[in-house]
Amino acid sequence: MPSTLKAEFLFNKDISAQIKEIKQFLDEFKTGLEKKHAQKDMKFTVSHEKDKLKLEIFYDTGFPHAVLFQLRNKLNQNFGKKHRLTVKKVVVSHYKLQFGLEKSPLHDFTIPYVDDFKLDEDKFEITFSKPLEESFVKKNFVNRIVRRIREKIDQQYYAGKGEFAEILWASEKKEPIWNEDPSRVMVEKGWLQLGRTKGKWFFGPQITKIIRAMEQIVKREIIKPLGFQEVIEPHHESFSTLLKTGHLEGVPMEVYYVCEPKTRNPEEWETFIDYLKISREVPHEELSKLLSPPNAINCYVQCPNIYEFFSGKTIGDDQFPILVYDRSAVSNRYESGGRHGIERMDEFHRMELVYIGTMEQLVEVKDKIIEKYKYIFNDILDLEWRMAWVTPFYLQHSGILELDDAKQRIKGTIDFEAYLPYRGTREDSEWLEFQNLSIVGDKYTKAFNIKAQRLDLWSGCSGIGLERWSVAFLAQKGLDPDNWPKKFRKEVGDLPKIFNFF
Ligand code: ATP
Ligand code: ZN
Ligand code: MG
Repeated sequence: MPSTLKAEFLFNKDISAQIKEIKQFLDEFKTGLEKKHAQKDMKFTVSHEKDKLKLEIFYDTGFPHAVLFQLRNKLNQNFGKKHRLTVKKVVVSHYKLQFGLEKSPLHDFTIPYVDDFKLDEDKFEITFSKPLEESFVKKNFVNRIVRRIREKIDQQYYAGKGEFAEILWASEKKEPIWNEDPSRVMVEKGWLQLGRTKGKWFFGPQITKIIRAMEQIVKREIIKPLGFQEVIEPHHESFSTLLKTGHLEGVPMEVYYVCEPKTRNPEEWETFIDYLKISREVPHEELSKLLSPPNAINCYVQCPNIYEFFSGKTIGDDQFPILVYDRSAVSNRYESGGRHGIERMDEFHRMELVYIGTMEQLVEVKDKIIEKYKYIFNDILDLEWRMAWVTPFYLQHSGILELDDAKQRIKGTIDFEAYLPYRGTREDSEWLEFQNLSIVGDKYTKAFNIKAQRLDLWSGCSGIGLERWSVAFLAQKGLDPDNWPKKFRKEVGDLPKIFNFF
């Protein structure tokens, strides 16, 4: 059975007088399509009722809806002037669409908008039994439903596979000072205290001093010599930005959503305040009436707002590579069951370097940054660490990243990982990703429409997780500055005395 689409073309007036001519026109239209696509498997059945043309399209090898609007335009062109006939509206009253699959689904899944779907031998069949509005088809919903189904089936094959990782470089082994969990001991010592909301920490003066010293090192060794310029970006990321980056489809369960009050008028908040004052509790039901649905998130990652700054701009060729960084936005992620100390928390601090330029320029920037990172981790912090080239499995198999292609190989992410002695042996325990460095090709310059005069632009970023740097360091070197490598000991200076609480 081929795909079948039933459509109604609503004209501005009765078409009975022209129906013969219309039928002949449809025949010619079909022959034209067959010639163009060198296929002969499309069939039309036509009937009419006053101002309504009823058309059934049967198509084996293609999507019947793909011809609908082309046909409408041609009808208008052909019959508009001649008979003053125009198509006012197109409604798809029933649609059964079949398409081939590369792989069969491993288990059941759901898909919205579709009334029924099933696997029919080697083909997948979806049915829309309720009428579809013109905009539904025009806005490409049907094609996206097909794409989403294929993607969902694909994902079933890669579920749980995580990442493909290849170690690019590893430092020598370093003898750790201790094997304690630094977050736990810092809490005991009063350097750290859990905040009142999930996974958020209050950093006391001691750990703050360590983190700030690390930030200074990044500024002195990387930011300054490479010429990165500081920006201060908004802390919220709007849904419209995240639609461009794909984060809202990638990690909607990991972000903190932001709501605006519906109104700033104190009178409208009066009942809320009444309940609050009398019960001394937050009246949630009342509150929810006064909030708009979320339209943004708290910063998840810093680069999207930096891309927004350049969005839609054409930039002089001589200004590349553009090198900027942000250290103002605080990252928020709902880590749920994964929370642990200050290495996996819901609110963390990062410096994010963003670079935009040609592929060659970015390769150069990347090499320079890596050289600087190596100096910091080897010569200042004396860490046991390694670099791994990582690709999520779904990317590797979807053909977006081909591992063998040299140009493709430039794209991707390098994770910087440190050995945490408290987690177990080097071989069996999971190392901590304390930062990363990516080149994403033209993904974001395209999505944000960032252009040079003539150059082809790529971009990338490197997220420096300051808490993770400190966990990597303290887990290997302990909390006593006397045991630290000399350069870093000097950089931090003496740690402030601990508060005495009575
Ligand atoms: P993970 O796999 O550990 O969850 P990620 O891949 O989600 O990390 P990225 O989105 O690549 O992390 O973020 C870049 C950097 O931000 C990480 O290398 C790390 O330094 C830091 N980071 C990410 N999530 C957290 C967190 N929950 N707590 C502290 N730092 C974090
Ligand atoms: Zn980024
Ligand atoms: Mg994560």
